[in-house]
Amino acid sequence: MITLLKNAHVFSPGDDGIQHLLVAGGKIVWIGGSIPEFNIDLGVEVIDLEGDKVIPGLIDAHAHITGGGGESGYSSRVPPVNLSKFTSAGVTTVVGVLGTDDVTRNTSTLVTQARGLCDQGITAYCHCGGYHIPVTTLTGSIRSDIVHVDRIIGVGEIALSDHRSSQPTLDEFLRIASETHVAGIMTGKAGILHCHMGDGERGLELINQALDICEIPARVFNPTHVNRNKRLFEEALDLVKRGCTIDVTAFPESDDEPGYLAAEAIQKYIEANLAMDKITISSDGGGCLPVFDEHGQVTHMGVGDSQELALTLKRLLNDGFRLEQIVPIFTSNVADLLRFATKGRIQIGADADLVTLDSGNSIKSVMAMGQWHRFNHQQLIYGTFEKDTV
Ligand SMILES: [Zn+2]
Repeated sequence: MITLLKNAHVFSPGDDGIQHLLVAGGKIVWIGGSIPEFNIDLGVEVIDLEGDKVIPGLIDAHAHITGGGGESGYSSRVPPVNLSKFTSAGVTTVVGVLGTDDVTRNTSTLVTQARGLCDQGITAYCHCGGYHIPVTTLTGSIRSDIVHVDRIIGVGEIALSDHRSSQPTLDEFLRIASETHVAGIMTGKAGILHCHMGDGERGLELINQALDICEIPARVFNPTHVNRNKRLFEEALDLVKRGCTIDVTAFPESDDEPGYLAAEAIQKYIEANLAMDKITISSDGGGCLPVFDEHGQVTHMGVGDSQELALTLKRLLNDGFRLEQIVPIFTSNVADLLRFATKGRIQIGADADLVTLDSGNSIKSVMAMGQWHRFNHQQLIYGTFEKDTV
């Protein structure tokens, strides 16, 4: 199938104005300002976007694709996340992680789930490991997992400053970082150590100590949930000055929020005048979001959802931020950190992962690898058993 998208207002993520895009074989093969002629035998599908804003497909670099949870007894394990949960939110690339439960969930099921999502038309990768050390792997070591398993690109989410963490020592932490960094060099994959940050007083201390003494590049150390409390976020801003990329989580809005909503955190980041390519956003989709009391008992629990990414984007745009300023946080910044050469940008040769926005900045249409998953607010493709679930 060849598709010509006419009159797209392209944010590549820079504002490229009105362009026409040609999509073939799942790739963007041509972009231009004048409409090309085609032989009718080619059967080109022509769609006039009438000036709709078109941005790269969102990359959600932290989602519990197998379902996370399990932090409030056996019945609190979250089921695997269905395809349309991602695509309806504009997410066309996802990175799966294990969390607290890296016992009944393992790297094997994570890799399989990622492959299943790829078979259903989006792009999915994963990290080996979960909250704990020794790091759970598929082949016996972090390096071997990243080198030999196509879907595995890094390690995470290793928990720090959290009562659910294995409380790694600096030496243990450095060894994990070195394994992933070396495997990243060997393969051209991300090779990052994606760190779940808890609410603990120690905050980013371990990452700072690692940067003080080791030769491993700062890019390898990638903390997430940094907006979960205000003190941690301040520390994270300082960490950016040392060369790390920080990841904010699109937590759902709640009344007793001790931290910043992702949109607030991004606004504060912009005000701090830091490098605009060192911040990303992810959803924690499929993960349970428990709130603990001082005894470590869960008081209530929610589930993360990629939809919060779309809501955060909309919130920022409706607050007056410009698309070209905000969209990299959801797309090209993530692609650069994860070394996804064909993702996160609208350019010739890139995968045809595209999202159009309506006039209110909601997700209107979503194309993944050249195929429409959602068109004009209608979901066209669902996961294999998604419609059978009552
Ligand atoms: Zn986490």
